[in-house]
Amino acid sequence: MSKTKQAVRTRFAPSPTGFLHVGAARTALFAWLLARQQNGSFILRIEDTDKKRQIEGAEEHIIKTLRALGLDYDEGPDSDAEHGPYRQSERLDTYQQWAQTLVASGRAYADPYTSEEVADFREQAQAKRQPFLFRNHRPDSPPEWDGSMPLRFKSEPKSYEWHDEVMGDLSTGPEVIDDFVIMKSDGFPTYNFAHIIDDHEMSITHIIRGQEFIASVPNYLNLYEALDLPVPVMATMPPILGPDGKKKLSKRDGAKDLLEYLDDGYLPEALISFIATLGWNDGTTQEIFTTEELIKRFSLAGVGKGGATFDEARLRWVNGHFIRNLSVDEVYEKAKSYLPEEASSKDEQYNKSVIACLQERLKYLSEIPELSMFFYKDLPIDLSLINDHKKLKKYDAEQLISLLKVSRETICDVEVFTAGNITAALNQLLTDTEEKPVVLFSLIRIAITQAPASPALADTIAVLGKDTVSKRIDEQISALKS
Ligand code: GLU
Repeated sequence: MSKTKQAVRTRFAPSPTGFLHVGAARTALFAWLLARQQNGSFILRIEDTDKKRQIEGAEEHIIKTLRALGLDYDEGPDSDAEHGPYRQSERLDTYQQWAQTLVASGRAYADPYTSEEVADFREQAQAKRQPFLFRNHRPDSPPEWDGSMPLRFKSEPKSYEWHDEVMGDLSTGPEVIDDFVIMKSDGFPTYNFAHIIDDHEMSITHIIRGQEFIASVPNYLNLYEALDLPVPVMATMPPILGPDGKKKLSKRDGAKDLLEYLDDGYLPEALISFIATLGWNDGTTQEIFTTEELIKRFSLAGVGKGGATFDEARLRWVNGHFIRNLSVDEVYEKAKSYLPEEASSKDEQYNKSVIACLQERLKYLSEIPELSMFFYKDLPIDLSLINDHKKLKKYDAEQLISLLKVSRETICDVEVFTAGNITAALNQLLTDTEEKPVVLFSLIRIAITQAPASPALADTIAVLGKDTVSKRIDEQISALKS
């Protein structure tokens, strides 16, 4: 008879030491995708055992970000599911019990040394050019463990071979195995101990985590054996590198709090697609995925071993793609809160047509105020836009003025003021004036927007309306005259 397959249970286990950055979000996303794909469960566990590094409000911030990204969890600190509590600081009794089991079986001992003594051991090893191993200094008769001293695991050095779903087959020799602290003298467990207990008690089937833990895995394997616990599937994420593809990602490369990206008007689905493709692909060259597609196609086998390059320009491109794919109503709903203050004096139809105009080129929503300002107010005339323009600078004021005059007339003559009719009139004007679009259209664009770039010219003219367009062209003419 075949064994019933164990339900997949993955977890995201952040320490509340700051905001959620792209690396942690990717770990969370992959764990979430696997759980959703396998109809399993995704668990949020707060690893708050290092009180010194903790930051007030970080847990709420992380939860808020996960929710905003759509990474809902089935069990977590605010649920009362059966495997809780889900905050390590609320599970101290559990760690105590497991620690006592190890003490009872002779596999843990109180560490009686002061930090000076340990530093001394370290120096001795260094002087002999040997790696420092705590197990070479095990006390002959350790004191009884009463919680006032750290508790160390008594390791059994040996070689290991294990499989990591991303990094492949790995192996190490006995020299990496050492006696590590499992309980600190403040009554809190170390990560090295607590995560093993929690993953077991929470029936976690897959551990997906960052690079920083891979060197410790042999020691974890030693502890799993001592506790007689099964080892979950392990998957170590490749590092995320800055845009040069060499150095580890830093804040200077644009890596910031994901909530900031969301506030800047990056769409959750775009962020998800972008983050998923940091190191993962489905074997094709597809670069943009809906969340549904990711749930279907994700596999740990598709995660590359090498570092993934974080490129904010690619994120903007991905986000622009998601924005373009929305209907005008959808983009308007998401974008309206980003409109400049001045938009409140306009009606919804006008504001919606502004957004519709911008949609094609928009990379993220907080660009809207800057890109849309000329739809709401007359901007000061900036003659450098003409003087520095590679073609227009060759024209004298008189020529420019006459082009502007005929443009204004042409535009004002359009009866039914639609983008289509305006386009037809402007094309006719190109023929009549024998000018190139780069000259004529740039000139009109500058006059009516005072910006070097704008949405499609006919759309822009249609939204601004005949009166504003003709008034702004007149003002440009006056400025050229003076
Ligand atoms: N608490 C660890 C961290 O935030 C998580 C490690 C893990 O996923 O097991 O780095």
